[in-house]
Amino acid sequence: MTIRTIIAATLALATSAQAAPDDRIAIAAKLRDTALASNPAWPLLVDLTDSVGQRLAGSEAEARGRAWAKAAMQKLGLVNIREEAFPITFWQRGQESARVLGSNHSLAITALGNSGATPAAGLTAPVACFDTLAALRAAPDAAVKGRIVFIDHRMTVTQDGSSYGINGGVRRAGPAVAAQKGAAAVMIRSLGTDHHRNPHTGSTSFPAGTPAIPAVALALPDAELVGRLCARGPVQVHLVSTPTSQPGQSANISGEIPGSVPGEIVVLGGHLDSWDIGQGVFDDGAGVAITLAAAATIKASGPQPRRTVRVVLWGSEEIGVVGGRAYGEAHKQENIVLAGESDFGADRVWRVESRVAATGLPLFSEIAAALAPLGVQPQPGNDSGGGADVGPLAALGSGVLELAQDGTRYFDYHHTPDDTLDKVDRAQLDQNVAAWTTAIWLAASDDRPLRTKP
Ligand SMILES: [Zn+2]
Repeated sequence: MTIRTIIAATLALATSAQAAPDDRIAIAAKLRDTALASNPAWPLLVDLTDSVGQRLAGSEAEARGRAWAKAAMQKLGLVNIREEAFPITFWQRGQESARVLGSNHSLAITALGNSGATPAAGLTAPVACFDTLAALRAAPDAAVKGRIVFIDHRMTVTQDGSSYGINGGVRRAGPAVAAQKGAAAVMIRSLGTDHHRNPHTGSTSFPAGTPAIPAVALALPDAELVGRLCARGPVQVHLVSTPTSQPGQSANISGEIPGSVPGEIVVLGGHLDSWDIGQGVFDDGAGVAITLAAAATIKASGPQPRRTVRVVLWGSEEIGVVGGRAYGEAHKQENIVLAGESDFGADRVWRVESRVAATGLPLFSEIAAALAPLGVQPQPGNDSGGGADVGPLAALGSGVLELAQDGTRYFDYHHTPDDTLDKVDRAQLDQNVAAWTTAIWLAASDDRPLRTKP
């Protein structure tokens, strides 16, 4: 989309609104303003947070989250409510502590998902320090073997969250790289932008044949301490981290507003599971509440859409995007024409992005025009990734709708004990609901092809 096409679309809208009102677009404006004035996202988020709390994938709490979601969908008037189970590896943290030998420094740590365990009494080893993942990759095995590897790196604040993508390899791949070189354990600087003593958890992975060694993240002040100590001379750390892994189960939940013409589905949703150390509010109770509230607004205040609107609440996103993959596999024969997820906190939507067939671009010009009063701008190009849970559907050819949220403070709270309800700004939460309501209504009331593959 170019600025010119947006301006042209806006002018066309202004003209047609005076001459012959386009019902779809007039209804979109009405739904947008209705959602902004009143929608159920905030009470849903409060209820999910207070009645269920954190929802670690595979846990009894995640199962209670699913029961909550089904009851909420029913109450909001969605139908065809389904629960689709799939197997996962249920990883749970155990005891965790770390201290620097010969000092009075204890370190604020959190184990990374899928990481292995130290002996119950812990392990003591010299620390091998690396500024970056690239430096670790380049190091000879002898510099790593038997040591606790520490990887430092610098994640910066970005509105679009791109710094997480750039630095994410440190957490996702760093422990496996260290394990392949014979490391005893790994400590990384948290992927975060705050300077509180809250370590940021998140998952890592070990390819088949690579031992799952203990791997933890340090809070930023603690990582900086270890970095300074490394510069002074040899450092020894005593580390305890005793997580366990066992076969488990998770599930995806979905519910619908049936369309008037069967056979075309628009999917929106968020993930129901969360990390265990916070309350799962920003990540991703907010996405659950926003997308449920958007569907509820269309259901309560709009006419029946032409296409079916389906809310999908994925399970086990945090540990391996297992729910997103299982959903893509189970629904690959379905005609899901468009899919979008809300999974970047509760701050305002600032950009709309697409990845659709050329025939769908005029729809995205309409969406951009309808979202402009909310302060949302179109992203040039047509190559949105869509997000983790939507990725498998997009790979199968579903069009992608992305409503990018402001990530300026997202990584202050992400995957930390500070992911709590008080961080949510209700006005921005409501702006999200208005944006999703508008975009989903316009897509679901339309008939232009959107899929990128048949
Ligand atoms: Zn998330």
